[in-house]
Amino acid sequence: MTHKVAFIGMGIMGQPMAKNVLARGHEVMVFNRHVEKTLPLAEFGAKVARTPVEAAQWADVIILMLTGPEAIDAVVFEENGLLTGRVEGKTLINMSTVSPAYTRQIKNALEPHGVVFLDAPVSGSKKPAEDGSLVILASGPREAVVEMEPLLLTMGKKVVYCGDAGQGSAMKMVINLLLGIMMEGLCEAVNLGQRLGLGTETILDTVLSGPLGCGLFNLKAGMLKSGTFPTQFPFKHMTKDIRFVLQTADNAGAAVPAGHALFQVFRQGLGQDLGDLDFAAVKEVLETMSDR
Ligand code: NAP
Repeated sequence: MTHKVAFIGMGIMGQPMAKNVLARGHEVMVFNRHVEKTLPLAEFGAKVARTPVEAAQWADVIILMLTGPEAIDAVVFEENGLLTGRVEGKTLINMSTVSPAYTRQIKNALEPHGVVFLDAPVSGSKKPAEDGSLVILASGPREAVVEMEPLLLTMGKKVVYCGDAGQGSAMKMVINLLLGIMMEGLCEAVNLGQRLGLGTETILDTVLSGPLGCGLFNLKAGMLKSGTFPTQFPFKHMTKDIRFVLQTADNAGAAVPAGHALFQVFRQGLGQDLGDLDFAAVKEVLETMSDR
């Protein structure tokens, strides 16, 4: 079955994800706050909406891939937002990274309007988004997730069903806590090795050749070798996500001592103006913290 999909948010992730939806035979209408980012999709055959409500009225499925709660609130509740039109019977899939608490709040605000709400954040960055190989952490009514699975699989290689809405976001908190700790851990180890006089290539080759070698470290090794951090997953978004992780862990009574340390390091990075670089630029924070 093909759908009419309103895709809202043409950022680093939204553009390739919408392109994959379109390439697999669905109709797509895109919206982005700054309209110039819709051009690549328009050239690829997508319709372009001038407002979120225009896209939502046309579609039967609405996908959000936005920075976080403020952006979602803006496209849902503000002038020309989704709720200024009739949304009854439409399925809304939020794929942005937000906390489980915010997910339940937006679900409770949308469901009285007759929206079928799914919470489906993703594991994977720009490259998996381009390749259609994201892992999609879906939650909401099981039958609705099953119905949407073929559409979700145009963007991902696997859909993991996590439970009621909010549990997809809970899984995303788990993944991003680990992601942040692993990235910071690699950078801390490389920085130590460099201070001990070891070569960066030798350190990374040693890590990648042994049992610590993994997809993430392979993906980021080039950035650490070159000392440049072209953005795949923005540093500022990782900082936002660690904040959500800490709030979520506190609510759940879970100890996350490494998560707290991670937040301090990333906060310092924002102060160093690293926000728009890739989150692997946490290496630069560790260099600044090191005794020169
Ligand atoms: P991005 O490139 O920064 O794009 C953010 C999008 O949100 C843009 O379309 C932006 O519109 C829109 N936006 C921000 N504030 C808004 C507002 N107030 N009103 C309307 N639109 C607003 O981010 P991204 O990397 O694509 O990430 C999108 C989501 O996926 C985030 O939740 C992120 O944490 C998550 N995620 C990212 C990655 C990754 O590797 N990049 C991986 C997994 C999950 P403008 O273009 O007009 O600013």
